[in-house]
Amino acid sequence: MDVSHILAPLNDAQRQAVSAPLLPTLVLAGAGSGKTRVLTHRVEWLVQVEGVSPHGILAVTFTNKAAAEMRHRIETQLGLPSAPLWIGTFHGICHRLLRLHWREAGLPQGFQILDGEDQQRLVKKIIRGLNLDDARWVPREVSWFVNAQKDEGLRPKHLKDDGDPTRHQLIKLYQAYEDTCRRNGVVDFAELLLRCYEILREVPGLGEHYRARFRHVLVDEFQDTNTIQYNWMKTLVGSTSVPYVVGDDDQSIYRWRGARVENLQQYRRDFHDVQLFRLEQNYRSTGNILDAANAIIGNNAGRIGKKLWTSAGKGAPIRLFRAYNERDEAEFVTAKIREWIARGGKRADNAILYRSNAQSRVFEEYLLAARIPYRVYGGLRFFERQEIKDALAYLRLISNRDDDASFERVVNLPTRGIGARTLEVLRAHSREHVKSMWAAAFECNEDLGAKAVSCLQAFLTLVEKLDAETQGLPLHEQVDHVIQASGLVGHYQKDKADKGEARLENLEELVSAARGFEPEDTDMPPLMAFLSHAVLESGEGQAEAWEDCVQMMTLHSAKGLEFPVVFLCGLEDGLFPHQRSIMDVHGLEEERRLCYVGCTRAMRQLYVTYAEQRRMHGVDNFGAPSRFIAEIPLELVEEVRPKVQVSRPVYSPQSRPTPQQATRPGGSNLSMSGRRFQDDTPAGAFKLGQRVRHAKFGDGVVLSLEGLGTNARIQVVFEGQGTKWLMLGYANLTAL
Ligand code: ATP
Ligand code: MG
Repeated sequence: MDVSHILAPLNDAQRQAVSAPLLPTLVLAGAGSGKTRVLTHRVEWLVQVEGVSPHGILAVTFTNKAAAEMRHRIETQLGLPSAPLWIGTFHGICHRLLRLHWREAGLPQGFQILDGEDQQRLVKKIIRGLNLDDARWVPREVSWFVNAQKDEGLRPKHLKDDGDPTRHQLIKLYQAYEDTCRRNGVVDFAELLLRCYEILREVPGLGEHYRARFRHVLVDEFQDTNTIQYNWMKTLVGSTSVPYVVGDDDQSIYRWRGARVENLQQYRRDFHDVQLFRLEQNYRSTGNILDAANAIIGNNAGRIGKKLWTSAGKGAPIRLFRAYNERDEAEFVTAKIREWIARGGKRADNAILYRSNAQSRVFEEYLLAARIPYRVYGGLRFFERQEIKDALAYLRLISNRDDDASFERVVNLPTRGIGARTLEVLRAHSREHVKSMWAAAFECNEDLGAKAVSCLQAFLTLVEKLDAETQGLPLHEQVDHVIQASGLVGHYQKDKADKGEARLENLEELVSAARGFEPEDTDMPPLMAFLSHAVLESGEGQAEAWEDCVQMMTLHSAKGLEFPVVFLCGLEDGLFPHQRSIMDVHGLEEERRLCYVGCTRAMRQLYVTYAEQRRMHGVDNFGAPSRFIAEIPLELVEEVRPKVQVSRPVYSPQSRPTPQQATRPGGSNLSMSGRRFQDDTPAGAFKLGQRVRHAKFGDGVVLSLEGLGTNARIQVVFEGQGTKWLMLGYANLTAL
């Protein structure tokens, strides 16, 4: 057979990895060296050369975006129909298995998935139900505890309190939460994995069945597997299937969520004769970008260590921009994107990456003003919006009446006279008789007044009616009917003040989403598939990239992706590296890996920006430039100052900040160039970033200076007054 078309687009090392014997394999290699490419070509190799049935292949990646990309590559580039292959995220695949085996898993057929917010609401309800103070037992922290246990594969019965009263209480809460989820027929994200792992191990014959079916299990981004994912994979592979995993220890960035980079070593111990392949040529980035990334990651201890080189030229230098504040930063980024587009580039070539979701807002503002379409991955996503969750709650109740979270969400929405007292009675009854709220609603008539009973009855009848009326309709008609007949549309039509119109548009968008929805597998009813998709997908925003738009996301969600132009923003100590991690050496190393991931997303141009002053969550912060900036070799960097049109090397070796300087509080005074810009500016009396006072506008900060002599103008952002341009000769400003 002619296999040249499979191997042709690969280099020697990649070819060896793709055509390796059918034994446990590890491809350990740096960013952009073609690991994901090798994995997809391996799938093709297995099918076309080794004669493996696509039915027998399971490929797992970390994000829906990556899974969609892999499916796409296999279908188009490799010319294989991907339907018989199982490709997905860990969560997606476990979900699929649980839908197929709900009985064995002890779940109702219509079980629903709780997202992070639903989970916290439920936990809060449980805390209150146990008469505990939710200021002491913070729902977010309790959820965190529960998830961390599940990620380790631990049920309440496995946990010991070791005489610690706090832990004792947390374990009790975990137990109560678990009981409630069981009763409501809901599972959270961590439960998808744990429950699936348990049934594969415990249900007689099930593990054997899937081991016989999936003879080849391939995992991308293996360095970020946690304990339960690793054990799940090991169970699925057993001693008969062949695992093929690819990863990069330098890109392990989910330790805080239980990821264990040690799994790379563990894998080599647990499976015999693991063949190891290394790839050293990077095909993604220019030499400068790669050198910068390598220099940064070189500061971490205990690495496996890899060589990474590129035959691409050095390319443009890394461009460093020092902004005065976050607005200045956003303005700069927007201007650069505009230039790129003006030169004929696509908007989607540009990615704005940041450490924290809260940073996206200012960029959005500037991009909106510049009329440049963008998409934010993460943040408040479509399926997490209030009105969408309301609509989904009705749809979920239709599928599963025992879903208490959905019941509580819409029982009185739109208002139908069901008050707090009625709900309290239902909750008490549901607690006491260990039943769902829905069931309780049929049994509480005696404890409620006649009016409450009739209001409640109206709701129960409505849900039953919606169910009956939507039977057999196409999915989008089901959704359309439910949002109309439930009264949600009417409710938001009346809601003029509170974004009612935008919410109505979103509800319409939900109907369109349902119309365009194509379930990946046909094992489940379309409504069920759609509801699951809404929860599983919402972790990453709308994946369809139908419009050419600027890409914005956190560094964590940029893993595995690549963009011609990358803006790595907010490089300030305290923000990135994050304050939480600075004091802890392991935390700091993880932040550095995150920085490495960020830099290596860039193909042609990497911009690094930081602000001297940043307003976040309503507080002004003055972080020193991130220590990671100083880890980039000087000769690779060029500082950009567009306002005064100066472009020059970033700092002289003498002025390089010492670690003490770089971390000292109020380090914003430290100029990375070691020089002030005063000498470059025409209006020498004032410095950019300086605090000034104006008789009428009060105190402010100098943003910009222009012109000479009597024409000199100064731009100042005044507290509470906004930004103003003033004629320097007349402004009568005093320096503070
Ligand atoms: P990451 O660590 O970021 O996940 P990776 O190792 O998975 O990166 P890929 O995404 O597979 O790397 O590849 C990086 C880029 O290099 C892609 O655009 C890919 O198409 C290209 N590439 C990989 N190998 C080759 C090759 N042999 N010839 C040409 N291009 C290649
Ligand atoms: Mg990859």
